[in-house]
Amino acid sequence: MTLDLTLQRADLLCAQNFINGEWTAAASGARLAVLNPADQSLIGQVPDSAAVDAQAAADAAAAALVGWRATPARQRAQVIKRWHALILAHQDDLGRLISREQGKPLAEGRGEVQYAASYVEWFAEEATRICGDVIAAPVSGRRMLAVKEPVGVVAVITPWNFPAAMIARKIAPALAAGCTVVAKPAEDTPLTALALVRLAQEAGLPAGVLNIVCASRAQTPAVVDAWLADARVRKISFTGSTPVGKHLAREAAATLKKLSLELGGNAPFIVFDDADLGAAVTGLMQAKFRNGGQTCVCPNRVFVQDAVYERFAALLSIQVAALKVGPATEADAQIGPMINARAVEKILRHVDDAVSRGARLLVGGRRVREASGPHFVAPTVLADATADMLLASEETFGPVAALFRFHDEAEVIAQTNDTPFGLAGYFYSENSSRIWRMADALETGIVGINEGAIASEAAPFGGVKESGYGREGSRHGLDDYMHIKYLCQGNLQ
Ligand code: NAD
Repeated sequence: MTLDLTLQRADLLCAQNFINGEWTAAASGARLAVLNPADQSLIGQVPDSAAVDAQAAADAAAAALVGWRATPARQRAQVIKRWHALILAHQDDLGRLISREQGKPLAEGRGEVQYAASYVEWFAEEATRICGDVIAAPVSGRRMLAVKEPVGVVAVITPWNFPAAMIARKIAPALAAGCTVVAKPAEDTPLTALALVRLAQEAGLPAGVLNIVCASRAQTPAVVDAWLADARVRKISFTGSTPVGKHLAREAAATLKKLSLELGGNAPFIVFDDADLGAAVTGLMQAKFRNGGQTCVCPNRVFVQDAVYERFAALLSIQVAALKVGPATEADAQIGPMINARAVEKILRHVDDAVSRGARLLVGGRRVREASGPHFVAPTVLADATADMLLASEETFGPVAALFRFHDEAEVIAQTNDTPFGLAGYFYSENSSRIWRMADALETGIVGINEGAIASEAAPFGGVKESGYGREGSRHGLDDYMHIKYLCQGNLQ
């Protein structure tokens, strides 16, 4: 069956920046084409902005901060709740837009909208629960309090793999905390972000509270550098690659901005010989092949214990070989196109390198559906992966499951933690003592225990080591957009 990805509400396909409550072109008039990664067809055009546009957005956000931070929390929450309702009301259109510009199958596009909406709802609720401490004064004649305040203007920079969820889980807590926002969505997927901003406008967000500026990859440094240099921007919230995250951390040091950095991972997925193998295969299929393997918490290294190695490889191969690759217009597609040519080249380079170093190719390992477009890659299983292969140290970010063999727990812990990254880790075991030992031993910010789908608005999402710092979701996700002010009243009689 062929699906129609045309939007019911054509005005959700926005073509301008949104600055100070107005839809505006880049000052230069430059445009950036947005292409469907499946067939390279043109979906729309957005402004290709420069520093002057970024400055206008920061001016608007700085001016709006005074009023928004003074708006009572319940009133802020009501606007965010209306935004949530509008997102759900337009979930079909938003899902279609995600599938068109990002490529994921429509069911996943719709699923992402619901996932994004769950963060918006969560933070609307959390806005009304912001509270500090009344501290028992250690000396007489004093009252001591800790109150929470919004950090100020926040710059949000998002990646292409979850065009709605990444925007939602940064902007919703910022607004809930009383911050104002300047945002730059990924150059490959700005349209979903613009549609979400259109709905936020309809929800009644005051002018200047949320501003969005689009830019090509070439123009992005000019836009972001303007915000980095601007002392009024007090926080950067970024999801993307570790090199860009480190660059932002270095440059943000000049004005000591607060940072949330959700960066690359190299997630281990460990299958012990005491695991429920069926559950482990199901968990790996969910964690690895969702979004075509283009998620930051995707297992990148699958460690399987000797005794179950060949059986696990066989069970996994059957399921991977059955995955249907295709564009989002095909109702039964499970793996969409990769986002761009750069991504395809990296995935195939990882596979070729692994095979040249002795890996066994069990399934896939090549382009497919070339008549449909250049970015389709067959879901792949590689056995006998080893630490010297590129895919052991670099995030593949594609539908490739590389199986490493291990003998005992101590060995796999050492291998697992032998990476500068530490976002997510997963393991499967039915032994309760081992479960707690492993949960302690993994150097990651997130641990999936007998579970492959770990993301939730109620949970703190984020990494350790070079996967970054800061947390999104949960009550901690709101704290990242606030600072603590200590009030001390003395000389009380
Ligand atoms: P990226 O870091 O290059 O891009 C992410 C965002 O940063 C985009 O909005 C981009 O325009 C912006 N950006 C790029 N260069 C910048 C600069 N110099 N200054 C400021 N902003 C800049 O990531 P990518 O190209 O989208 O993907 C590359 C790799 O990043 C992937 O292979 C993967 O390893 C990782 N990645 C991680 C996540 C995640 O969720 N943690 C998401 C996407 C990509």
